[in-house]
Parts: sequence; C-alpha cells; structure tokens
Amino acid sequence: MSREFTIIGAGVAGLCVATELVSRGAKVALHDTQGLPGPASCSWWAGGMLAPFCEGEAAPEAVVRLGRAAAGWWQGHGVPVTHNGTLVIALGRDRQELDRFARRTKDHSRLDAPAIAALEPDLGERFSTALFYAGEAHLAPREALSVLAARLAQNGVAINTDAAPPSASHIDCRGLAARDSLRDLRGVKGEMLILRCPQIDLKRPVRLLHPRIPIYLVPRGDGVYMLGATQIESNDRNRATVRSVLELLSAAYALHPAFGEAEILEVGVDARPAFPDNVPRVIRQGGVVHANGLFRHGFLLAPALAGMVADHVLNGARPELFHEYHP
Ligand SMILES: Cc1cc2nc3c(=O)[nH]c(=O)nc-3n(C[C@H](O)[C@H](O)[C@H](O)COP(=O)(O)OP(=O)(O)OC[C@H]3O[C@@H](n4cnc5c(N)ncnc54)[C@H](O)[C@@H]3O)c2cc1C
Repeated sequence: MSREFTIIGAGVAGLCVATELVSRGAKVALHDTQGLPGPASCSWWAGGMLAPFCEGEAAPEAVVRLGRAAAGWWQGHGVPVTHNGTLVIALGRDRQELDRFARRTKDHSRLDAPAIAALEPDLGERFSTALFYAGEAHLAPREALSVLAARLAQNGVAINTDAAPPSASHIDCRGLAARDSLRDLRGVKGEMLILRCPQIDLKRPVRLLHPRIPIYLVPRGDGVYMLGATQIESNDRNRATVRSVLELLSAAYALHPAFGEAEILEVGVDARPAFPDNVPRVIRQGGVVHANGLFRHGFLLAPALAGMVADHVLNGARPELFHEYHP
C-alpha cells in the first residue's frame, strides 16, 4: 500500500488524520484553501468539551466508547487538556430534566448544595442538586488546532493554500463542503458566544439543562467563557439570529446574574457536518477516502476517526465506522 497521502481540509478532522498518519511513518501533503484553521472552519467555533458520558444522553453507545480515548490522544500530541470533569445542573422548575439526564447517562455522581459549592463556589448557593461527571475533560479548540498544525510543520507538513491538484485518490476532510460528493451529509447549525465575565470563576464546563434551550459554558481562563450552543437543522453557516443569541444569553443570565455584566467578545456560527445517525464515518468512494460527519463531536471523536482512517489506508482494514459508497 502507498505510504504517501494527500489530505484536503485542515479542520480538526484533517489535522487529526494528518497527525495520525505522520505518527505512523507515512508522508502527507495537507491542503486547505483557507490556510491555518480559522473562522472558516467549523472547528474554530467548538466548545472543546471532551464529554463522552454527557453526550451519551442523546448519542449512540459508540460515541461514548470511542470518545473515552480522546483526552489521552490530545495530550499525547502535546495539547493541554484540563481534567476537571463536567457539572450538570438544572433550575428548580426543571429538576425532572436532571433526573432524566441521570437515567440516560453513566459515570456520574449526585451532588448536594455543599458539594456543588466545594467544586464551584460561585454556583453553590444557587443550586441544590447537580450531576458530576468526574471522568470528563475539556480543551481549548483553537489552541489544540494550532498545536497540531505547528507539530505537523515541524515534521515538514505545512498547510498548502493552493487548491489541491486534481486527483482520483486523496483523503477528503472538507467538513460540510463535502456535501458536493456525500449526498447524505447535512448541516446542523450551531450558534455560540464568547463572553468575558471576570466576576465568575468556573473551573469546568457547566451544562444547564432546559427542555428547550439547554446551554453550556466552557471556561477558557481569565474570566473568558464559550457559551453554546444552538442545534438547528440547517446548512446556514453565516448568520446568528437575534432569537438564538437572546435565548443563549438569557439562559446564561439564569445560570448566574453576573453574566448580565459580561462583555460579548464574539458571536460565532457554523453548521456541523452530520450523517443521518449523527455518527461520523470513514467512507471509501472509489479512490477517495472521506473522514466526515463529526457532528457535535469534532474534538471528541476526530482522534478515533483518524485512527480508523490510518488503519484503512495503511493496512486495508475495514474499521468500525467504515462505509463504502459507490461513486
Ligand atoms: C457552536 C459549535 C460548538 C461545538 N462544540 C463542540 C464541542 O464542545 N466538542 C466537540 O467535540 N465538537 C464540537 N463541535 C463540533 C465540531 O466543531 C465539528 O464536529 C468539527 O469542527 C468538524 O470538523 P471538520 O474538520 O470535519 O470540519 P471543518 O472544521 O469545517 O474543517 C473543514 C476544512 O476544510 C477546508 N476546505 C473546505 N473545502 C476545501 C477545499 N475545496 N479545498 C481545501 N480545503 C477545503 C475548510 O477551509 C476547513 O478548514 C461544535 C460545533 C459548533 C458549530
């Protein structure tokens, strides 16, 4: 089998596939017309939660199982990962949401108000019960992308911004842009904000459950938080709506009124690439191998997906998430 590969797309999927192949001794050429990962890639807007157990509330078992290895993979490739777990809470009137979430997920413990206060002093007096997922972690996506890109550059793999030469055999990691060749790929729009709120010091991702507008806050340090995220069936990657921003901010304000004083640093929007079952796929379509469909699990599942791409292109394996499409 060839050990030289052209990868198109340098979002989290392309960078993880390139990293995995290089670490197994292959030669890689990486093309992204936008250059280093930035606002044009969906990966730029992610929360960076490595939360397989919480995701199990709505995702299939494979997402939980494959996602458990993510934190170790990122750390093994030089990316800082914070292992502070995840706190899941609900306002009094939504207590049944917490019970439902607990029933549908594993590896959590129930906390009372003093235990919440011990973990997150700013929330302890506001919530009487919570779920704590001690085994979960988070990272800063933009830092993670730039660490992978820098390490690849050290290994002689720069991101080439010229359009890749036409080729019948390459690895396609173009995210939602690959809808031109993957007909069952769709977009799931996500809107998010970056807030600065130094009055509050959260140490871990906090998810606030709500029947219609669940939100999460991921600490980025220095009082900066990523507030996410809507989940809307739409391919729109450009416009955040007033309704979405209002709802996200209202929910943050309900979590803690100090968010009323927060500065809005960014409003972000993109559409997550997803297949009908919301599970990513390695797809062989003629000479092209696609790594796509990471949905809301880009940083959680790209390491596992990259490993499967490498197993397939280097060893001819047909791994768990492998599919064959006929061109
Ligand atoms: C608001 C929001 C919050 C999220 N939160 C999380 C989270 O907490 N945890 C998590 O794991 N995931 C999260 N995700 C999901 C994650 O962001 C996506 O699953 C992931 O970014 C998809 O990565 P990708 O590499 O497939 O696509 P992209 O990141 O979009 O990368 C595709 C790349 O291909 C390039 N490209 C396109 N066409 C061409 C071409 N013709 N030639 C060359 N290059 C091309 C683009 O420039 C782009 O850089 C979130 C997503 C959103 C929107």
